[in-house]
Amino acid sequence: ATGAHASGVAEPRGPHYQDARAPVERRVDDLLRRMTPEEKVGQMTQIRLGKLRGDCEWTPGPLREDCMKAVLDDAEVGSVLSGGGDTPNPNTPRAWAEMTNEIQRYAMDRSRLRIPLIYGADGVHGHSNVVTATMFPHQIGLGATWHPELMEDLGRSTGRAMRATGVFWNFAPVSDLARDTRWGRYYETYSEDPVLAGALAAANVRGQQDGADGTAKLAATAKHFAGYSQPFNGHDRAPAQLPIRYLQDTVLPPFQAQFDAGVRTVMINSGAVNGVPAHASPYLLTEQLRERMGFRGVAISDWADIQYLVDRYHVAADYQEAIAMAVNAGVDMAMEPSNAAEFTRGLLANLRSGAISGKRIDQAVRRILTLKFELGLFEKPFVDPARADAIVNGADRPLARQAAAESVVLLRNEGVLPLSTGARKLVVTGDAADSVPRQLGGWTVGWQGVPAGSPLPPTTTVLQGVRAAVPTANVVSAPTRADAVAQAADSDAVVVVLGEDPGAEGEADTESPALTAEQQGLVDAVRATGKPVVVVLLTGRPQVLGTVADAPALLAGWLPGSEGGSAIADVLFGAVNPSGRLPVSWPKTVGDQPFTYDQPRGANVGESSDYDPAFAFGHGLSYTDFTTSAPVLKSTDVRRDGRVEVSVTVTNTGARDGTLVLPVYVHQPVSKVLTPDRRLVAFTRVALKAGEQRAVQVSFDVKRLAVTAGDMDDTGRPEVAKGGYEVLVGDGRAGFAVR
Ligand code: BGC
Repeated sequence: ATGAHASGVAEPRGPHYQDARAPVERRVDDLLRRMTPEEKVGQMTQIRLGKLRGDCEWTPGPLREDCMKAVLDDAEVGSVLSGGGDTPNPNTPRAWAEMTNEIQRYAMDRSRLRIPLIYGADGVHGHSNVVTATMFPHQIGLGATWHPELMEDLGRSTGRAMRATGVFWNFAPVSDLARDTRWGRYYETYSEDPVLAGALAAANVRGQQDGADGTAKLAATAKHFAGYSQPFNGHDRAPAQLPIRYLQDTVLPPFQAQFDAGVRTVMINSGAVNGVPAHASPYLLTEQLRERMGFRGVAISDWADIQYLVDRYHVAADYQEAIAMAVNAGVDMAMEPSNAAEFTRGLLANLRSGAISGKRIDQAVRRILTLKFELGLFEKPFVDPARADAIVNGADRPLARQAAAESVVLLRNEGVLPLSTGARKLVVTGDAADSVPRQLGGWTVGWQGVPAGSPLPPTTTVLQGVRAAVPTANVVSAPTRADAVAQAADSDAVVVVLGEDPGAEGEADTESPALTAEQQGLVDAVRATGKPVVVVLLTGRPQVLGTVADAPALLAGWLPGSEGGSAIADVLFGAVNPSGRLPVSWPKTVGDQPFTYDQPRGANVGESSDYDPAFAFGHGLSYTDFTTSAPVLKSTDVRRDGRVEVSVTVTNTGARDGTLVLPVYVHQPVSKVLTPDRRLVAFTRVALKAGEQRAVQVSFDVKRLAVTAGDMDDTGRPEVAKGGYEVLVGDGRAGFAVR
């Protein structure tokens, strides 16, 4: 070891942290010993890119030397992020790579110990801040695929694109559940169901992080820990009231699935749960996250959330107290503490006063340095800008098309679909038929969706997709209701594509998650012409349908991304046989919120004791027919730590090849605490040729059946109750006992 510690103390012996062959733990120990308190607290700070451009928060512009100095040199921050829309200008992959390199070079040159930065961004559906990147479907559509392997491929693709531009930390996937359609971030979730959401999120994490394609690795983020998606009034970031039973049995399992898959970071819920802001909750951030769930990576705050402990939640009298609350609760890094110098000064003051221990600071910094070593940032802090465009631009479009096609859910089909490719004239109408911003949704280039004035990401709209699918037909675009009705007269069919305004977070909340009167009126008017009508919904949530509920053909395409139009056309004309299944419940009325298939028994007393949606969780039609035999269990007597193995025979009895999504549920005839009538425990997908029959095995851990027992707010751990259960597959069931 060379050099002297800032305090003049001799350097400790041992492996030097710059030695790439030394184990990460030793490197971290060594580096930590050399760092001053100022250097340590700098690592706990993440600043938005805008800070390096003066104070022009959302306006792209050149980096400013004086701002770079204030943030990267004086405050020595450990990380920089691009929030949605905080992009280089021009917004090209090459410009991103040059920018992240420039920031990295500046930071490392001024860091006494040459500690690299880690750059983060929200690549929530592909590297979605970059105009020329391929935008994948948003998570809600991906939830409808029930296809973990596909999530892994998408994660790998996104990771590759992000790394190529020097972004080594992705704030995705969202692990919150879709439990309330009023909430503005509903489309960012995979499902209302914890098992489905957890399986998809874990697969996505594996893909993002694995580095299997020979490039460096990436840090994914499980967000937002925990209980974020159920603000009591449907408004983003409003407090949630979540019984511990519900938290443990429903909210936390998707996070656990990602911890088990090795996700490297978590982001904390910006809201409050049961009266305590998550950022100030030792219960959530230490007892649950670390002690019970075993998470070992970095816990980052959400945007400016330590400040909000003072001025939104009023649980701290001043910023310094808020910093102590958050860090002691378990926050390792602060995202965008409005003023980096003030944040690091506050941390140091708390350290001096003993309000935060040196041990706790070291623990946080250790996690952050471990992340940087594991990602190889000390060895390879820079990327090659010359390669970035080739890696990112238009990458993996076939994968995007496959993902969008698999996410389509055919809700209704009264013999209208597939449309004939021999059609002479087709009318395409509706507000989302030819709108790139609507098709791509929020978090696309900008936070609230593609900003006005920005170049549009290369995208195939439904209008374009239909034109490409039937090149010999006269495909007429009808922008208004009158055009649509007039053009319908001599057409073969009308395709109506309905969407919603792109948006994100609170701006996308709605008190009326329903199709508008105008949208329903358009469908009514074209139906009145007597022509076959297909309604395509490009929305991020299941909108209450009104008069559209009985449209002769109805499909949900969600927010399908760059290849959405081609994928929808693939389904409309039968090139793809739809296999998507609803990952959420489709409510009948706007008052039905929150509304999920796994509501506890007794939820609808007085009206009907049944779950009565417009379309049920798991619903989805095909162009072929399947039958599923009753399930057969390998053993009807299992141990609490055992596995249940289920066999069924599935048959494609129709005339087309198709893929069947096969959910496996468990029903508990009698339970001491309320359980849902059925809960998902496993699922699989089976591709079957026309006429093909196959035996399928699915299994699940009995541990999946654990629920939190005890009375009221008992905080015991979930346990599997002994007694009788039933496995439900298709229309069949089979009983077993847990001993
Ligand atoms: C969101 C996070 C996001 C962060 C950075 C916040 O407003 O809640 O999900 O990662 O911004 O863009």
